[in-house]
Amino acid sequence: MMTYREMYELAVKNLAPKEHGPGFSSGFVSAVLEGANGKYYCGVNIDLYCGLGFCAERSAAAAMISDGEVVIRRVVCVGENGNLMTPCGSCREFISLLSPENRNTRFLVDLNGEKTVALSEFLPYPWNN
Ligand SMILES: [Zn+2]
Repeated sequence: MMTYREMYELAVKNLAPKEHGPGFSSGFVSAVLEGANGKYYCGVNIDLYCGLGFCAERSAAAAMISDGEVVIRRVVCVGENGNLMTPCGSCREFISLLSPENRNTRFLVDLNGEKTVALSEFLPYPWNN
């Protein structure tokens, strides 16, 4: 099992900020998910014209779902300066809808203190409860 620091270092390594052209950039945010199967899934943000595209967390979740897993144990997400990022509202909702077990998904919010926050704290009153 990877430590939070190892997950963080992998997320930083996967940063690949790039402006591909007008209205298309990617790699400014990088996420590493630990699935309940013990495997790790990586993703970067994809930003396109008109608000299309998606966050690094959902990009990594797509790889995880493609591999047959839907339950996420831990998430580390970093911005382009290596700063830890918390999930946006869409990602909170998306991850919560993948499985009721994801109420327990932990998000790293402080690297040195290894402080984490559960999805249930980010999204305390789900509409589909
Ligand atoms: Zn998001």
